[in-house]
Amino acid sequence: MNIILLGPPGAGKGTQSAGLVERHDMIQLSTGDMLRAAVKAETPVGLKAKAIMDRGDLVSDDIVSQLIDDNIAAMDAKTGAIFDGYPRTAAQAEQLDGILEKHGRKLDHVIELEVDEDALVERICGRFSCANCGALYHDTANPPSVEGVCDTCGGTEFKRRPDDNEETVRKRMGVYRSETAPILPGYEARGIVSRIDGMSGIDEVAGAIDAILT
Ligand code: AMP
Repeated sequence: MNIILLGPPGAGKGTQSAGLVERHDMIQLSTGDMLRAAVKAETPVGLKAKAIMDRGDLVSDDIVSQLIDDNIAAMDAKTGAIFDGYPRTAAQAEQLDGILEKHGRKLDHVIELEVDEDALVERICGRFSCANCGALYHDTANPPSVEGVCDTCGGTEFKRRPDDNEETVRKRMGVYRSETAPILPGYEARGIVSRIDGMSGIDEVAGAIDAILT
């Protein structure tokens, strides 16, 4: 099973991918996470990507598609892939088709999380994660049970993404509308698009995704 989770920044793609990985034999392929790791490690890709990401612009199609290709090549053929934050342009969608074909895979579902943009700004600007294990939290919607302590690993250090501020978020939403949303009609023509209300609760969205996958 290979699926794309599509939706503007903050729609819940990362949270839902993490749930899918727990419930199914699947691996999350998040180009955003891969790029952030590259920035942290100061690799050549990371050094190129940092300023682009901080502005909320898109990193080049060839760079992200190469990251995806490398990661799929390293996966067991039977393990499913969840594409999170990729593809984001028409060129990437085409490159993904080529990558999947090369590795003997096919795209089963494109799931779009539909959301209200103003509510998203609040959602994104409140999100943070455990610096130790990466568990995701939100100031109001999903705080740790004990303030300042990670539910998953007990860590007490948390971090926020540098691009999770209102100005950059609005920019990233504009990029989603102009660059990413136009790839949907191509997938619709193949009959593999499903839409889910991404503003409902985490568990409800997860249930709706599972219903599509079965
Ligand atoms: P994300 O974590 O998916 O919100 O991605 C964070 C940032 O990484 C984006 O704003 C882009 O600058 C960059 N990025 C992530 N995925 C892609 C992609 N598929 N194509 C181009 N840039 C990307």
